[in-house]
Amino acid sequence: MTSAARPVRYSTKKRVLVTGGAGFIGSHLCARLLEAGNQVLCVDNFFTGTRANVGALLGHPDFELMRHDVTFPLFVEVDEIYNLACPASPVHYQFDPVQTTKTSVVGAVNMLGLAKRLRVPILQASTSEVYGDPAIHPQVEEYWGNVNPIGPRSCYDEGKRCAETLFFDYRRQHNLKIKVARIFNTYGPHMHPNDGRVVSNFIVQALRGEDITIYGDGQQTRSFCYVDDLVRGLMALMATGDDVTGPINLGNPGEFTMLELAQQVIELTGSASTLQFQPLPQDDPRQRQPNIERAKAELGWGVTVPLREGLGQTIDYFRGVIAA
Ligand code: NAD
Ligand code: UDP
Repeated sequence: MTSAARPVRYSTKKRVLVTGGAGFIGSHLCARLLEAGNQVLCVDNFFTGTRANVGALLGHPDFELMRHDVTFPLFVEVDEIYNLACPASPVHYQFDPVQTTKTSVVGAVNMLGLAKRLRVPILQASTSEVYGDPAIHPQVEEYWGNVNPIGPRSCYDEGKRCAETLFFDYRRQHNLKIKVARIFNTYGPHMHPNDGRVVSNFIVQALRGEDITIYGDGQQTRSFCYVDDLVRGLMALMATGDDVTGPINLGNPGEFTMLELAQQVIELTGSASTLQFQPLPQDDPRQRQPNIERAKAELGWGVTVPLREGLGQTIDYFRGVIAA
């Protein structure tokens, strides 16, 4: 193509595609990307995401919202891709497990194909679930995991593992600029009140004065990262040079049992709710804590929001949602 025939670009701003952009994490990422002076194309099929999550962005001149399912090819022109499309709550990803695997695997093929055509960097929102019910603790990126391939969580865990395989094969086969983030449990405003994940469940139950549902004996652990810290980590990873591919753990190393979490939520909400013990779901991991040394070394990243403070912000958000 001669320079005279080259398509004209009227803006020098970076065009960033966020799949799953109307979801919990995606909506925060879209907001931060706009604040950083980018144009943002948010693509979502609204399975778990909502227009309300990006409602504050809809009037922004650099924001565009497109309804699209990533299991179908997408033809757009962008400079960077964040691939977040996939339900993340066990309740939601087990609702239509075949679609969950398709979203992770076919969605990854489609977005990697787009990145390959455009020769642009692509970041995958992978997960601590690739470690399954981990036999080593805390989890380091070198650990290959302990995952049941045929259980109720497998559509998500194995889908995400296969997506990682695809990312690294596109790197090896097509020299694509890939970034794989392994995200540990993240929480904050814009989680859906019926999301089913533990932080939103406990807060909504506490605010409504309902029983707090503890699955199993409540001694299983998770490490909870506030969404602002996580989004900063994703953007730092995208900003790295071509040699940094990950996988890289992003999460808060502070580890809590579900009983400790319930106690904090009760204290912070001043709720009179009591605990109700229910059966532990099949294949529920016993413990989870990220080792974030690689993120510290390669991204200069760490967490800044302690659980208590993040829970406070999330409780304020849900008070508003419940009152509305
Ligand atoms: P979420 O369910 O709030 O957001 C997922 C978004 O993807 C939703 O807006 C949903 O409508 C959209 N989506 C689902 N299937 C789609 C499809 N086929 N096509 C287009 N859009 C589709 O979940 P989240 O917590 O914001 O998670 C975002 C990403 O981060 C997911 O890929 C998830 O696996 C990953 N992740 C999240 C956590 C966490 O704790 N929140 C932990 C590990 C990994
Ligand atoms: N959990 C719970 N009560 C709830 C929801 C979840 O005790 O109302 C437990 C669940 O069994 C798991 C932990 O909280 O051990 C985290 O669950 P979540 O669905 O948030 O995420 P994941 O299991 O994918 O880490």
